[in-house]
Amino acid sequence: MPRATKYIFVTGGVLSGLGKGITAASIANLLKARGLRVNLQKCDPYLNVDAGTLNPREHGECFVTRDGAETDLDLGHYERFIDEELTSASSLMNGRVFLRVIEDERAGKYQGEDVQIVPHLTAAIQKFIQDAGAGFDVHIVEIGGTVGDIESQSFIEAIRELGMRVGLENCLYVHVVYLPYLGASKETKTKPAQNAVRDLRGLGISPNILVGRSEEPTNPGAKAKLSLFSGVAEEAIALLPNAPSIYQVPLTLEETGIANVICKQLGLTTKQPDLSDWARMVNHALGKHKHQITVGVVAKYLDNQDTYMSVFEALRAGAWANDADIAIEWIDAESIEKAEDVASVLKGIDGIVVPGGFGTRGLEGKIAAAQYALEHKVPYLGICLGLQMGVIAAARNAGVTGATTEELSPKSKHLVISTMAGQAGKENTGGTMRLGDYPCKIQAGSSVAKLYGTTAIIERHRHRYECNNEYRDQYESWGIRPAGLSPDGNLVEIIEATNHPFFVASQFHPEFKSRPNRAHPMFRGFIASLLQK
Ligand code: GLN
Repeated sequence: MPRATKYIFVTGGVLSGLGKGITAASIANLLKARGLRVNLQKCDPYLNVDAGTLNPREHGECFVTRDGAETDLDLGHYERFIDEELTSASSLMNGRVFLRVIEDERAGKYQGEDVQIVPHLTAAIQKFIQDAGAGFDVHIVEIGGTVGDIESQSFIEAIRELGMRVGLENCLYVHVVYLPYLGASKETKTKPAQNAVRDLRGLGISPNILVGRSEEPTNPGAKAKLSLFSGVAEEAIALLPNAPSIYQVPLTLEETGIANVICKQLGLTTKQPDLSDWARMVNHALGKHKHQITVGVVAKYLDNQDTYMSVFEALRAGAWANDADIAIEWIDAESIEKAEDVASVLKGIDGIVVPGGFGTRGLEGKIAAAQYALEHKVPYLGICLGLQMGVIAAARNAGVTGATTEELSPKSKHLVISTMAGQAGKENTGGTMRLGDYPCKIQAGSSVAKLYGTTAIIERHRHRYECNNEYRDQYESWGIRPAGLSPDGNLVEIIEATNHPFFVASQFHPEFKSRPNRAHPMFRGFIASLLQK
């Protein structure tokens, strides 16, 4: 008989942005290293049904799972930290729960009962959690937001009830709290953390484990004090000062011994963890590198690192794989549009990335950047929108004036990027795109075939528009070729320029499958091309 699933619930106190996602992912990493089968799930208090319609500028990147769920960026951390591909079951937004409950109510499933947050909504949450955890040794559930927020109360109540239902010996509550440092008295303060523990207890949950986040290493007595006043044993408190790299966190956590405490409390006997590969990757990432490169990311959102989280992580992994330090510079797409001289905006940049994006703002600047890259043989990596901009750039450079995309100018004559006849889902709302895994056949002999070392790949998509096949026979004269197609040959999935050191773009998002210790071939190849100059 399979072992019953054990649950670890990760909540946050004091303030948001403490790195609960990284903490949850790191615990998962340490448990997987002990040979356990681990799943993760992010519960978000938003009333959106999924993250597809959230503004990436505020909420950060929309991460896409292989089965096409549009999710919170924490799932990206989860995948990178446990090196597994997760599914839609790992992402639960409150809107989805409400939708389920209301649909059930309309379908008459409540048989005349008054439908309430408690017990109906909380029961629905528990079902989503248990379904996601089924078949795993440990299921780690991160609750978004801060304990005490109105929005997340139903989730907190649901995990409290779940503990009662499956038995507290099968559950562990991890509370991530903040330990501020007061410069005036040169002291780590524990009071906000004590209060945060009290808030959680007030809702009926006694934390088993505390993770104390701080910007600097804490004062020596801080842990004992936090333990005494929060009633959590010292051995069950892990202190996590800011790390030089997020990938350092599992190693720091392991040193605190917290993973052993977690296993002991859950009654899990495991093998000793083997973290040597991970430690090697972190040492290499943080160590000295032979090369130094600067990559320009042409974007319209410039003020939130999280917007292109997976792209940045994939670029870093690509750099480490090439023994290079990478500086990532934002380039404002609109400033390229306005510039008299594109070269001046791109000064000091070794290579250009045009990542995914939606909407019309900044598109002309991205096209101009791609045109510049083609003309001046600057390495270019295009991702999704970046491919579309690359095709338009090639067409325009070859004299097809007015070449554009339906997204920018639907009535134009030369829509080299468009929705194709018969394609479903043209509305600009959630859930109407080509999403998730699709197979792609790479053309033998292409430079991409060399990068991948195979011609059959599967990659994740998230887009509405496609290369317009009416123009495909002109690609050669534009200096590009389709280097990857859908297996039926109908959709262009990858293009590359024919006479260029590295001009490669994909309709899919390779960044989602990149790992810190296994850089994605497209990113590794892109960075390698920068070193060849
Ligand atoms: N906006 C483009 C489309 O919908 C590109 C999407 C993307 O880059 N993810 O096709």
